[in-house]
Amino acid sequence: MVQSFDRSQGRVGVAAAAAPASEATFTGNRGLQIEEPLIFELGQSGRCGVDLPEPPKVKDRLNGLRRTGEIGLPGLSEPQVVQHYTRLSQKNYAIDMGVYSLGSCTMKHNPRLNEKVARLPGIGDLHPLQPVSTVQGALEVIDSLAHWLKTLTGMPAVAMSPAAGAHGEMCGMMAVAAALEAKGERGQRKVVLAPESAHGTNPATAAALGFTVKPIPANERGRVDLLALKAALGPANGSEVAAIMLTNPNTCGLFENDIIEIAQAVHAAGAYFYCDGANFNAIVGRVRPGDLGVDCMHINLHKTFSTPHGGGGPGAGPVVLSAALASHAPYPWIVRDGEGWRIAEEGREIAGTPIGRLKAFHGQMGMFTRALAYIMSHGADGLRQASADAVLSANYVMASLKDVMSPAFDGPCMHEALFDDSFLKDTGVSTLDFAKAMIDEGYHPMTMYFPLVVHGALLIEPTESQAKEDLDLFIAALRSLAERAKGGQSADAFKAAPRFAPRRRLDETLAARKPVLRWRPSNRPPEDDPLKQAAE
Ligand SMILES: *Cc1c(COP(=O)(O)O)cnc(C)c1O
Repeated sequence: MVQSFDRSQGRVGVAAAAAPASEATFTGNRGLQIEEPLIFELGQSGRCGVDLPEPPKVKDRLNGLRRTGEIGLPGLSEPQVVQHYTRLSQKNYAIDMGVYSLGSCTMKHNPRLNEKVARLPGIGDLHPLQPVSTVQGALEVIDSLAHWLKTLTGMPAVAMSPAAGAHGEMCGMMAVAAALEAKGERGQRKVVLAPESAHGTNPATAAALGFTVKPIPANERGRVDLLALKAALGPANGSEVAAIMLTNPNTCGLFENDIIEIAQAVHAAGAYFYCDGANFNAIVGRVRPGDLGVDCMHINLHKTFSTPHGGGGPGAGPVVLSAALASHAPYPWIVRDGEGWRIAEEGREIAGTPIGRLKAFHGQMGMFTRALAYIMSHGADGLRQASADAVLSANYVMASLKDVMSPAFDGPCMHEALFDDSFLKDTGVSTLDFAKAMIDEGYHPMTMYFPLVVHGALLIEPTESQAKEDLDLFIAALRSLAERAKGGQSADAFKAAPRFAPRRRLDETLAARKPVLRWRPSNRPPEDDPLKQAAE
């Protein structure tokens, strides 16, 4: 057994079992992959990264409320802090490292031009409380982006402030609730319909606003079952349905072919059509949701319009609204008065009943700037090309893998290729095992087990931004894994994956039964825990 140095305890101990004994190292590091303790384990009490003068003696005016115990912050030098976070950052898989096929997330390249523009001093250094006369350009940026979003969606109004897709859903559904209220139908219409394949945020949004969620089944082609929908809508007069929340293309990566008929049926029943626009990347420049009869739709700027996400910073989820809902848009609005721009922040500035304010200030300026830079550098033709390439990439992946993996539905897909786990039947390998084995091959797994309507789902969204050679290697790696799984090779090899990641698999049972949700210093009893004291 190799002795190892336990960094957190500062002494030599016995190698932790992260690696088999034959591969254990003294430091616990593996090559240049450095083992990383928690920052609290690294810290020493009393150490500080800067020299601070002794605080002057002052009279205690806290009336005995002064803390007596330690504050519980880790004490480190500046180089220790820099090294700790740099090592952590190197454990992260990122869109800048390789294919990131996480379905439904549109993990595509964020052009550096966007970053450059967002960091221009006149944009990056703005403060939301600056006098309006000093931010005229920024307000025009917001208005220009709003104009593009309305044009691309064919909708008359847009609320810019929601901070992400889920927040946009909240905004849109609050506008629906306000419209029903204005018609005196809020009490009657308590039901929101959502396909079984819906993203979890859709039913969560509806439930948070006090609606009852009713699932709509899919047909054998993975689309909304129109007859079931019409039955759920009930009679035109006296329908209990407030709205349908529908994703298009849907979360199976399929275009809802009956969408116009769906919209007509929803409207005929006096209900509204909320479209979840997270998959807008597949249709930008080709289909305008407004032409389909959509009443409101959020746009995840951090997906479709290429702003960083996935641990990369704030999102932005502007919501486009139809004429029926526009008068309920939340404020603020950017208004052009004569020569200048200003921010309207009060409901009485428009006719109608705005739902109020959803967020401090005016939205995510950095995201707006990046999205506008992306849109303008592509131009209308470039955006059309991007959506076409996203769909082409997904169909390329689907066609290249359909003989060894099992597509969930027949026919071409939109921007995502969805497989079920029937190709793994009788191999002893599960979707989870397959995904873990992908990590050993150097790939972040696709979205697994979503949508729930497909057994053991594997949802691949290659996006338009990967080079063909990189997709070819990705496809070859998946083919190799599928063939290994089916070749009767022991499932144990899959169960043992990932073997080369900094951490192997969790003991899922233990983690579920006895979750350890907070770190405690190993040498301190719980009641002496400074973090706990700080929290109390
Ligand atoms: C990402 C996503 C959402 C939620 O958007 P956030 O920006 O993550 O809040 C909603 N619906 C679908 C289909 C999504 O893919």
